[in-house]
Amino acid sequence: MTPSLDDATRILSTLVAFDTVSHKSNRALIDWVADHLDGHGVAVATLPSADGRKANIVASIAPGRLEPRGGIMLSGHTDVVPVDGQDWQTDPFRLTPKDGRLYGRGACDMKGYIACVLAMVPALRDAPLTRPIHLAFSYDEETGCFGAREIVSHIAASELRPAMAFVGEPTSMRVVNAHKGSCGMRTKVTGHACHSSRPDQGVNAIYGAMEVIDTLRAQAQALAEAPDSVGLFEPPHTTLNVGLIQGGSARNTVAGDCTLTWDIRATREGMVGQVRDALAAAVDDRILPAMRARQAAADIATETLFEIPPLLPQPNSAAEALARSLAGGEAVSAAFGSEAGLFQRAGIPTVLCGPGDIAQAHAPDEWVAEDQLAACLSFLEKLVAHECAA
Ligand SMILES: [Zn+2]
Repeated sequence: MTPSLDDATRILSTLVAFDTVSHKSNRALIDWVADHLDGHGVAVATLPSADGRKANIVASIAPGRLEPRGGIMLSGHTDVVPVDGQDWQTDPFRLTPKDGRLYGRGACDMKGYIACVLAMVPALRDAPLTRPIHLAFSYDEETGCFGAREIVSHIAASELRPAMAFVGEPTSMRVVNAHKGSCGMRTKVTGHACHSSRPDQGVNAIYGAMEVIDTLRAQAQALAEAPDSVGLFEPPHTTLNVGLIQGGSARNTVAGDCTLTWDIRATREGMVGQVRDALAAAVDDRILPAMRARQAAADIATETLFEIPPLLPQPNSAAEALARSLAGGEAVSAAFGSEAGLFQRAGIPTVLCGPGDIAQAHAPDEWVAEDQLAACLSFLEKLVAHECAA
């Protein structure tokens, strides 16, 4: 039984109606997906987060009948980005069809893909699969791919050994085999507050933060002058960005603290460590000793908020070869990060391929084209046929 676009659309409208903005619970959606799979005789494992407010769901189709090893893992995230401050023409949590487009938060990124996969479940269950198909839907992708880490641990602790993973991020159904890593960093500068009339008695944390920013800016400049990924990424080097600065308390007070939030978009493994080490050296050798000479309690502490590894091309991998044979076209790179790098780092060859254009993701009036969902269903149909072949 081949699923229709109507089946996928109906499921998508249910998924969109669950408000799974990352800071909220996704449990209601996960329960619904578990019921849906259970209704089709598919056993699921839900993997709750530490506080139980969120969960991943992992399922294998054809367990018992087939070895759990091998097969393809179809993966996606269930959380969406907030709609606060965005001007929407429709209710973001009610799927609204118009002119061949389906509007709603997550329609593109990436509940559309999950809806297509779930619509395939009856066909998958009845298909004479020769290898299992695994489903893995995560929480907290948008805030740092936290849920996917638990999926990776679950796989390592179980008998599951997917031969490859396809992540259905919106790529307009093109095969994406590369993206930069993404690393969130926070540097907290502690000085010594006092009345601004006696700056000689304090240590201005904002000035300390300026030195940190200067160091990061010089590093960014040096990285830009030595491109290391020409033809793969735009721009062809690791980038740094200081995106948020919060510090001080009043005009007439020497700032006692200042916090910088910044990110690293790495072209390859090892770059994050290189950037962190270079900053640590500047802090330890120069910036902090100057602050401590005035006030022993001064401090500069940098923490990593999250680290998503880059996805790197594996042109000879089974994942890339199969995805390209099903989707057609050459593999390309993407500007955005995803869970794919975590799966690849865990030894699972992974590519991205999913419906919708990333240009509509995270935007107000997010939409996915109906013909993109249709293209995704046909991709999945070919995939199932491939997994039925000996
Ligand atoms: Zn996404």
